[in-house]
Amino acid sequence: SLKILDTCVNCDVCEPVCPNKAISLGEEYYVIDPALCTECIGHYDQPQCVEVCPVECIIVDTEHPETHEQLTLKYQHLMAVK
Ligand code: SF4
Ligand code: SF4
Repeated sequence: SLKILDTCVNCDVCEPVCPNKAISLGEEYYVIDPALCTECIGHYDQPQCVEVCPVECIIVDTEHPETHEQLTLKYQHLMAVK
């Protein structure tokens, strides 16, 4: 999944563009739920939050490294439980 750094300015433009509703306002700034973020695989070619973030504070979460295959499986699981 991706993660949001503390340089987030709480502008709220990323939250509505996430196809998995993985983004929400945390205690101090916006956060991504690693269980829901597929890095946009299954929905878009590019991570939509990264595309819209004005301060480029969204990066790959190295604590949750995932292969393309794992992200595809997560996407399929999320679609199945919807
Ligand atoms: Fe949502 Fe895609 Fe950003 Fe992950 S990469 S938080 S799925 S918009
Ligand atoms: Fe924070 Fe970037 Fe999302 Fe704006 S778009 S709320 S700065 S992570």
